[in-house]
Amino acid sequence: MIYKDVIIIGGGPAGLCAAKILADQDVSVLLVDRDHHLGGQLVKQTHKFFGSEKQYAKNRGFEIAKILINDINDKPNIEILLGATVAGIYKDHVITVVKEERYLKYKAKAFIIATGASEKALAFENNDLPGIYGAGAIQTLMNLYGIVPEDEVLMVGSGNIGLIVSYQLLQAGVKVKGIVEAASIIGGYKVHASKLKRLGVPFYMQHTIKRAIGKDHLEAVEIVKLTDDFKELENETSIIKTKALCIAVGLSPLSQLLGMMEVAMKYIKELGGRVPVLNNLNQTSNPNIFACGDVSGIEEASSAMMNGYIAGLGALKHLEHPHPNHDELIKMYHHELEILRHSSYGEKTLAGLKKLGGGPYAN
Ligand SMILES: Cc1cc2nc3c(=O)[nH]c(=O)nc-3n(C[C@H](O)[C@H](O)[C@H](O)COP(=O)(O)OP(=O)(O)OC[C@H]3O[C@@H](n4cnc5c(N)ncnc54)[C@H](O)[C@@H]3O)c2cc1C
Repeated sequence: MIYKDVIIIGGGPAGLCAAKILADQDVSVLLVDRDHHLGGQLVKQTHKFFGSEKQYAKNRGFEIAKILINDINDKPNIEILLGATVAGIYKDHVITVVKEERYLKYKAKAFIIATGASEKALAFENNDLPGIYGAGAIQTLMNLYGIVPEDEVLMVGSGNIGLIVSYQLLQAGVKVKGIVEAASIIGGYKVHASKLKRLGVPFYMQHTIKRAIGKDHLEAVEIVKLTDDFKELENETSIIKTKALCIAVGLSPLSQLLGMMEVAMKYIKELGGRVPVLNNLNQTSNPNIFACGDVSGIEEASSAMMNGYIAGLGALKHLEHPHPNHDELIKMYHHELEILRHSSYGEKTLAGLKKLGGGPYAN
């Protein structure tokens, strides 16, 4: 058994920012990620970020990852364990980590869960045909390995991920055959949607995928028009020829580890699924467990960073070793979150957080 003061599970923007707060403090930290590199989703994001300088706005996602990784690398109090999946977390404050077919056990006084999210799937006939991808897979192929999936792609989902990945496909010389969206309004930022419209990408609003067509590989899809209450209009279907389909229909918090610790959680649609109830230090109903980033509600990388800092500060306070600037920093990061959440995308998050409860008065 290896002992640490704090274990951070997940090295995306949320986990990295939590680690940044703990760096150089008198606490021992383990940062563990199942991937073979740190950065989480940021490493595949090639577009420039919005926000303020506190979120490294105007930098590209992978550049922000490099900055954050640089800030915590070589810190004597932080051990980084990569290619290591946390398979379980137990009531005696022990985690099991699977690394290279070996099981390792760690025990800590506080845990920061920053495991991010998984992509939602879409149910339709033949949805397992080769040529059907999730947006994360396409971003990884193109932006990490320089491989385009096909020379044409039809996108499903007009949220920011669908819009950004469509733009990245166009930049890579791939024809975007259109964007299929079940809702009547575009979910992502208008600025991204306008760019795509100017480049001639058609939007099929109030449509969904009925079936994928092809024998050994995708050749076309049948789309169907939807009513305002998302019922299929049987006679209003059309066929779009495409070699690839990209599904970008939202994310679900990867909150299974929180579930194992039986912390108070609620299903909140606006936050993507089952999320923990947190106080203003991002502490769950179990005082030893903190959560931040997409696992505590789907937002964006910028808010994941702010929430990571808050969880780091919360863990230090819990260990009775508060950061020298605790009050000032907590106030500042909550203020930054307020600003981010009062932008157009934040409406949904604010509605979700209201339903979830928690906040300063939770504990
Ligand atoms: C496909 C996709 C595209 C996106 N595009 C954008 C975008 O363009 N702009 C934007 O602002 N946001 C985007 N987002 C959202 C944004 O990336 C996230 O909001 C942000 O990365 C969340 O940060 P996080 O640290 O919570 O999670 P992540 O960045 O997902 O990091 C979580 C980390 O936890 C690790 N992990 C998970 N489970 C375990 C486990 N059991 N054991 C060990 N490690 C584990 C994962 O390997 C990962 O490295 C996108 C998300 C996705 C999925």
